[in-house]
Amino acid sequence: MVRYVILLTIAGIVGSIIAIRKGHSPIWWFILCALFPLLIIVVALLPPMVSKGYTKKCPYCAEIIKEDAIVCKHCDREQPIEMVKIEKDSDLES
Ligand SMILES: [Zn+2]
Repeated sequence: MVRYVILLTIAGIVGSIIAIRKGHSPIWWFILCALFPLLIIVVALLPPMVSKGYTKKCPYCAEIIKEDAIVCKHCDREQPIEMVKIEKDSDLES
């Protein structure tokens, strides 16, 4: 039983690590993967959340970085100003 709990905890940690890398909520994915370890496959197959506004793709190295990042953590290049701030849908008027 204890071994099973440890396995589920590891599953949750793995799921949350994958979730962080893809810009998803690590807390939710930790809980979900701990309850349903098969969801690790789901989160691994999920596309990075570029369209949701939390992350963006670096125009130089095509890695996923945070929306508010000014310098890419992968290639250390400064982001173009027009790419730095992407307005969320809720902020747009018509
Ligand atoms: Zn980059």
